[in-house]
Amino acid sequence: MLSEFDLIAKYFTRPTPNATLGVGDDCALLTPTPGTQIAISSDMLVSGTHFFANAEPKLLGHKSLAVNLSDLAAMGAKPVAFTLALSLPKPDEPWLAAFADGLLSLADLYGCELIGGDTTRGPLNICITVFGEIPAGKALRRDAAKVGDDIWVSGALGEARLGLAGMRNELALDAATLSAAVMRLHQPMPRVALGIALRSVANAAIDVSDGLVGDLGHILARSGVGATLNVDALPVGPMLSEQPQEVRRRFALSGGDDYELCFTAPPSMRAAVLNAGNETGKAVTRVGTIEATHGLRLTDAGGVPLELHATSFDHFVAA
Ligand SMILES: [Mg+2]
Repeated sequence: MLSEFDLIAKYFTRPTPNATLGVGDDCALLTPTPGTQIAISSDMLVSGTHFFANAEPKLLGHKSLAVNLSDLAAMGAKPVAFTLALSLPKPDEPWLAAFADGLLSLADLYGCELIGGDTTRGPLNICITVFGEIPAGKALRRDAAKVGDDIWVSGALGEARLGLAGMRNELALDAATLSAAVMRLHQPMPRVALGIALRSVANAAIDVSDGLVGDLGHILARSGVGATLNVDALPVGPMLSEQPQEVRRRFALSGGDDYELCFTAPPSMRAAVLNAGNETGKAVTRVGTIEATHGLRLTDAGGVPLELHATSFDHFVAA
């Protein structure tokens, strides 16, 4: 006899034309395209730590997969498939239908098949593992930044943090700005096409999930280099540009939840980087330089050093 949680699995059971074997056996089977490597990443989203317990389920479904696809984007990988492990306090069918809608709509956009997973009773907890393909040796790794590389950022930074500030009444935002910024927080779009376009262009890359300072810090640490960042060059977009300089700089540097790409490339690749941005419809902005030092130096547009005490984003906990 099927349990209620077996029945729930039906919300997530779909055709898997690309997988060699999809849902229904002990394991799914994937056959890698010859000459490719498989990129694998897992992210767990926990109620009260990564999202509020009353989060809109459709948006939560979207974001749960988006943050995983963003990790594939950061490596230059093409999404292929994912698994979902879900624990739920109770089998709430309207919630599940909306969650599945948000999750699977984004999956369809990238041809990323749900090939397996598990559901069980427990505190709301969403764990997704994604699988992507990259031509062998072409992955954009954190440890490959070179001294002299330019540092680039895609899109605009700090808008998700602006949405959080509006939700928490830290800042008074007009209704249109609030709703647009909150959508940036709840419905990030992974920069998959840009990551793929940067495969033979960039040296190192990471997705900006915890704030630029912290995430760029991972590239610097893994590559054994330092950097100078021109804080006034950071792309902030029209919503954040209306805020005071202190807010603008702080949110762009350490806001978190941007899901843009930060990457490094040699100056000889500037035209190729701009071309990758144009071809994929994403703005790319040069914001700094990799140096033979340690740690991160921040300056203003005139090269004057700044002390901002910017730290990496702390995942918020619902009050
Ligand atoms: Mg990441």
